[in-house]
Amino acid sequence: MNKHDSEKIAGILQDSGFQYEKDLSNADIIIFNTCTVRESADGRLFGQLGNIKRLKEEKPDLIVAIGGCLAQSYGGKLLFQFPQLDIVFGTHNINRFSYLLNERIKSGNKVFELKSEDNYDVSCLPTLREKPFLAWVSIMRGCNNFCSYCIVPYVRGKQWSRSAYEIIEEVKNLTLDGVIEITLLGQNVNSYGKDLNDEMNFPQLLEKLSQISKLKRIRFITSHPKDFDNETVKVVAESEILCNHFHFPLQSGSNKVLQDMNRRYTKEQYLKLIDEIYRMIPDASITTDIIVGFPTETEEDFLETLDVVEKAKFDSAFTFIYSPRSGTKAIGFKDISSNEEKMNRFSRLVDKQTNISQMKNNYLIGKNLDILVEDFSKKDKKMLMGRTKTNKIVNFKGDSNLIGKIVNVKIILAKAHYLIGELKIN
Ligand code: SF4
Repeated sequence: MNKHDSEKIAGILQDSGFQYEKDLSNADIIIFNTCTVRESADGRLFGQLGNIKRLKEEKPDLIVAIGGCLAQSYGGKLLFQFPQLDIVFGTHNINRFSYLLNERIKSGNKVFELKSEDNYDVSCLPTLREKPFLAWVSIMRGCNNFCSYCIVPYVRGKQWSRSAYEIIEEVKNLTLDGVIEITLLGQNVNSYGKDLNDEMNFPQLLEKLSQISKLKRIRFITSHPKDFDNETVKVVAESEILCNHFHFPLQSGSNKVLQDMNRRYTKEQYLKLIDEIYRMIPDASITTDIIVGFPTETEEDFLETLDVVEKAKFDSAFTFIYSPRSGTKAIGFKDISSNEEKMNRFSRLVDKQTNISQMKNNYLIGKNLDILVEDFSKKDKKMLMGRTKTNKIVNFKGDSNLIGKIVNVKIILAKAHYLIGELKIN
């Protein structure tokens, strides 16, 4: 969601005559679009602001702005704490960025704006997309779930779904602009439409979007297990262009910890959903997020998480050590594990998941898969990089004119986190 917002901010600036500049020392405006889900992001930002201070001393006209969740959470006090800052704007103020920038340029004063109406819409703003053939489409914003560890509902506000008509029109226009793959975004896409009267639900929206001609792939993130239903799996199973990849945050395999996290599903319900996905789409890939070291997690709770990981056979997992966020309910929970215990659990989890990821990728050796070529490989610029419908990264040798196209490759080597393929010439 933050990356998508960044594309919007870049689009606004491009429309105002600015150009993207990679080298910070050459920039006239530097904008930090921040995330505050984990505490380490705050630390990184404050470190970067120290570097910017030196830059600003050399170049006093440089404008430095902070937006996003951290700005929403800390508010105007950032301007006092960091005198090198010129503009602070909240998560609901992106559509006002152009105005705020003009105010700063015209008046020379520091500018701060933090509106909190929930139904802000940024879809009509210009966008500077990283790749012309890929686009994110936000279908909803905010979240009503209040998981006890999460700051998002406090900084992004209540759930607010966009009208299905608007979303469909936006996607049609994107395809006219050359987009062939879209990723639908929402904190909890499965609850799409529940805050609107007489609108489509999520599977109905997927079905409608999958009928748009020229569109080749549709992805969606993130699914919440408590709202997920078989109807969505059925629609994906029956569609050629809906990608068979489900990102399904588990967070913990212990029912006690899930309850403390206010996740509102049990380990058994979660595994049942996974079984249903594999039953209806045997080649589906399922990825997840897992938090280790939640304050109330015991060793026995952690073993339950390992048990779910073993049974669910995730293709990959984003694993985190619990990061306390002030303002959330979990900040008041007594932490019963030492840092060493948390680190130990974390590395056992990573080892287990890496083995499972490797095993699942090994199974793909020899298979022919369609991939959408996105770019050169980050590790080896002589290779291209693309993704399968199941969201697996495949590197292969090929000409740069394949970027933006769907090609067929034969998988010849499997690593835990990526695959190597050979281009099939028809
Ligand atoms: S579902 Fe829970 S973890 Fe996800 S954004 Fe909402 S409150 Fe945060």
